[in-house]
Amino acid sequence: MIPAEFDYYAPQSLDEAIQLLREHAEDGKVLAGGHSLIPLMKLRLATPSALIDIGRIPELRGINRSNGTVTIGATTTHRMIEFSEELSDALPIMPQAAKVIGDPMVRNRGTFGGSLAHADPAGDWPAVALALGATMHVRGPDGERTIPAEEFFVDLLTTALEPGELLTQIDLPVPAGKVGMSYQKFRHPASGYAVVGVAAVVTLDEAGRCADCRIGITGAGPFARRATEVEDALRGQQLNESTVRDASELAGSDMEFLGDIFASEEYRAQLVKVYTRRAIMDALARLP
Ligand SMILES: Cc1cc2nc3c(=O)[nH]c(=O)nc-3n(C[C@H](O)[C@H](O)[C@H](O)COP(=O)(O)OP(=O)(O)OC[C@H]3O[C@@H](n4cnc5c(N)ncnc54)[C@H](O)[C@@H]3O)c2cc1C
Repeated sequence: MIPAEFDYYAPQSLDEAIQLLREHAEDGKVLAGGHSLIPLMKLRLATPSALIDIGRIPELRGINRSNGTVTIGATTTHRMIEFSEELSDALPIMPQAAKVIGDPMVRNRGTFGGSLAHADPAGDWPAVALALGATMHVRGPDGERTIPAEEFFVDLLTTALEPGELLTQIDLPVPAGKVGMSYQKFRHPASGYAVVGVAAVVTLDEAGRCADCRIGITGAGPFARRATEVEDALRGQQLNESTVRDASELAGSDMEFLGDIFASEEYRAQLVKVYTRRAIMDALARLP
């Protein structure tokens, strides 16, 4: 339970952090809230020789809204999101999801960017980022680039981040029109992580039909993904219990499911359908 030895760095600026990441490209690691990395280090499943703590870089933290987009700095904590008035007004699914992450200690330390970069298959934020159409801003030795959420989560604990790259901020577009959004999760009773979590963002047209719908699923498979089969089935439809139930039955139809001693693959496959229906129905109940 004691980590292997490592050097600790606490850069005060983004440039300094990028320089340190370049110097320790081989086996250095970024430290954000430490609530996923430190447990792995204690178990010696991760043995970085250098930790680059990004928690003292002011420009990486905060929530800002402008021109129809909310931008969240990578080291913004779950708690800051939970209590953000800006977000509860613009993107209420964000505080709703933050509230169900771990416990108060985890929410106080854990960060939005750390959670996305870690890509835990049972993490909550990846589903929400997919449903909202997030764009990740990344900085590395070769400069800056952006990655859409769909291309960011590539496998179990694996993202599109290259070695030496830092996730700096995340853009979340604020959908216009009549929009309802909800995150529904079946919590693991011991850890609180998502056995299955589904985020739904539903937009209705003037006639009350589904103009657009984005659904993100986490917990069920090795990495979070969109339920495009459900989205396609809902677009153009009047949404009611019956149409939503029929479409939700398609959820996970081409997914690879994880199974463990708590929840088998078959159980997760069933949960995905049930939680997809619940997330869409709750999004409709929250329409303005
Ligand atoms: C008891 C417990 C319960 C939890 N319950 C939940 C839960 O219910 N739902 C949930 O979603 N999560 C849960 N978590 C995880 C928690 O949300 C973590 O905080 C989160 O997964 C990782 O964020 P962090 O800031 O702690 O990252 P860290 O642990 O510091 O880092 C995690 C990984 O991401 C990398 N990294 C971090 N930031 C960046 C960045 N900006 N750019 C590039 N790489 C980066 C690190 O190098 C490391 O590999 C739980 C954790 C604990 C300990």
